[in-house]
This record gives sequence, structure tokens and C-alpha cells, in this order.
Amino acid sequence: MASKTTRILVSSLASLLLFAGSAQAGSAAGGSQASWTYTVQPQDTLWKIGQKYGIPLRAMIGANPQLSNPDIVWAGLKIQVPIKPSTYASGQFPLKKGTYQPFENTYGEQRVWTPDGYTTRSHEGVDIFAKKGTPVYAAMGGTVINYGWNQYGGWRLTVKVDDSTAFYYAHLSGYAAGIGMGSTIRKGQLIGYVGDTGYGPVGTSGNFLPHLHFGIYKTNVSPWKTVDPYVHLRWWALQQ
Ligand SMILES: [Zn+2]
Repeated sequence: MASKTTRILVSSLASLLLFAGSAQAGSAAGGSQASWTYTVQPQDTLWKIGQKYGIPLRAMIGANPQLSNPDIVWAGLKIQVPIKPSTYASGQFPLKKGTYQPFENTYGEQRVWTPDGYTTRSHEGVDIFAKKGTPVYAAMGGTVINYGWNQYGGWRLTVKVDDSTAFYYAHLSGYAAGIGMGSTIRKGQLIGYVGDTGYGPVGTSGNFLPHLHFGIYKTNVSPWKTVDPYVHLRWWALQQ
């Protein structure tokens, strides 16, 4: 009698854990997901599935780190198919592989610090944790349109990448030599270093752990409209 109850309990616990696990794998803490779940069909291989959706094998493998052998998949197995962003797919991840921690989608999460006190606001980017001083590279080329201190972003850089869009890099510990207002930068160029600056007047640091805050804004509307950058960041990370 006791064992039946125990079995039910264990199986509910297992479902709960599975649910928690898949929710975490989807990484949609605040904003969108960067992949979708596909159920493997008979005769499928990761390469075939990738071909079907226009995703390179390398990215398919990268999106499924749970597979101990990517050559072996079986009918009924659930795998993740990464989403290729419709814009800036040719961009590059702003930090070198191995220099940053796994990241989740923190876009749209609640943040409370403002220069006038604590109120609720929505997080307008994704945070990627890395050691202070880690080099930051331009995800796309463009023109620097904001440079210097911002109370939220600390030492930050806003790079206009085309007529309607800007990429935002914040909380830097410093800028790369030669970077300034109006600079033209190319994709992959060193632009600065990860830090923990911001949340206060000029020079404030240490109010949070060092990380790169990356944001995307539509600049052809007033005020600028924030865009969830997670799909881009995930896609770029898979190309590394
Ligand atoms: Zn942030």
C-alpha cells in the first residue's frame, strides 16, 4: 500500500523535475525562445533535420548539448532546432567562446534600479556574465552614435548598424583604443572590455557582478523601441 503511494509520488516528482528541466532548456526567463522542440522521425539524422529547416549541422549539434553522441538519434526523441534570426544572422557573438558563462534570456525581466529610486521597469537586453576585462567585439559593423557614461549602462557604446537599428553594449570597464563618438567600426573589431559600471553617477561600479549587457533598438521610431536580442545572441553563439 505504501509502495503504491510512493510510486505515485515519485512519478509526480519526476514529471515536475522534467518540466522544470525542459523549461530551463528553453531558457525563456523573460523573452522569446531561441529554439523549438522537434520530435525525431524514423530515418531522421541531425543533418537531415538541419537540412529541412536550413540550419547547419554545427548549429544543430550546438543546440543539443544533451546528446552524448549527435550521430545517434531515434524516432520519438525530442531535440531542439535553433531559430535562425531573419536579420543580422551574419553577426558575431560579442565575446569569444570560452570567455563567458552560459546565458539565459533575461530580456523583459523585472529590474528595479532607476536614477530616482527603485521602481519596476523591464530589462531591455540580455546579460552575459564574464570576468571583468574580458574583450568585447562588435557583433556587426557600424557607426558609434552614443559613447561615454549613462546612468543605467555605465560606460556604454551604441552602434548604429543600419538605417533603423542600433546595438547597445553596456557596463564596460573601458573602451578599446581608438573608439569614440562617430567612429566607424567593423564586425569583430575590439570595442571594449566587460565591467560592472553603471547604476549611478559617472564612475559608479560594483553594484552588480561584471557582465556584458547587450541590447538591440529600433532607432527609426521615437522613442527608440527595444527588441529582444536573445535569438540573435543564441544564433551567433552557435556559430562559434
Ligand atoms: Zn542588463
